[in-house]
Amino acid sequence: MLRTLRPELLALALAWLTATTPTDTAAGTRFVPQYSFNANDGFNDPLLGANRRAALEFALALWSTWLVPSYDAEVITVAVGFIPQFGGTLAEGGPADIYRVGSELNRVTPLANGFYGRDTNPGQPEIYVDFDLNSNFYLGLDGRPGTNQYDFVTTALHEVGHGLGILDIINRQTGGYFRDDGPSVYELFLAQTAGTYAPLISMTDAERLAAIGSGDLWWTGPAASAANGGQPVRIHAPPLAADGSGVSHLPLDSGSLWSPSLGRGEATHSLTAIERGFFTDLGYTVATHPPALLFKPASDTNGFCFMFQTAIGVSYVIEFKAAFQDPTWTALPGPPIVGDGTAHMVRDPAGLGAQRFYRIQSQ
Ligand SMILES: [Zn+2]
Repeated sequence: MLRTLRPELLALALAWLTATTPTDTAAGTRFVPQYSFNANDGFNDPLLGANRRAALEFALALWSTWLVPSYDAEVITVAVGFIPQFGGTLAEGGPADIYRVGSELNRVTPLANGFYGRDTNPGQPEIYVDFDLNSNFYLGLDGRPGTNQYDFVTTALHEVGHGLGILDIINRQTGGYFRDDGPSVYELFLAQTAGTYAPLISMTDAERLAAIGSGDLWWTGPAASAANGGQPVRIHAPPLAADGSGVSHLPLDSGSLWSPSLGRGEATHSLTAIERGFFTDLGYTVATHPPALLFKPASDTNGFCFMFQTAIGVSYVIEFKAAFQDPTWTALPGPPIVGDGTAHMVRDPAGLGAQRFYRIQSQ
């Protein structure tokens, strides 16, 4: 859940009938959108529908570059729609299900598919996301929303992340779990009190209920902790009565894609090392050198240009050739581009009026 204002309690159950529209995305785990038949669902809007679909599919393509498939031909289907949300909610998303088999831990559907090495719910979406029909979303791909706009791509990335398992199943009334058969993988790494880090899975329900609103909640997963200088990572844990966005988010001031709220004019289109650690701890294989996503090709009097999304800590070399059959690629002049998580523009003055093929090597 991503909100503009104060969050309320988390809702897990989402379901409705949808149609399948397969779309190829970048290399990696395939993320495929599933749009509703409903002509008024927002993604079919005559004015905004095309740009909404383009922004959603860009977010799904980014996820495709970030995750390595857990099994052959893995597909994660994301069913999406627009509805009027309330209380400043920009969107709400989650997995199709959270379940376990035998003595295993509960897992969200995409993690369960990965764990069992097959699609455990054939023909059904793995993730659902409902976007707010009335929020002023920026639908561009470059991460530069106006000062009065909420970045749609950031919102979609955040919600899909909840569907992938940044999501607890702790009951806010009892401190027990929403599943009778115990915790999910996410709760495995939750702990209370800096320096002590008592695991929540070992607590009584009452102790766990106190812990999740204590302001002193931590993630002890080894990969995220390693990326945080060897220390557990703070989890958002405001008093339960004041704010229901705790436990499944990082703190408000963390600058994380999983901060519980998004401001106007803000955008985040990349994962930090700590966030990559979260997904590693949950059980995913996170790509170390995600391929670059190219978009917005254009020509002007200064040459041919296009943009690509960079990842933090990855460097990029842009290459071209004049003929598709040519086996040799030539690097564009200039040093490699060091990724900082923002979209970068490439301009090739010699590309104007000529046929050129481009590729980006990520290193
Ligand atoms: Zn959220």
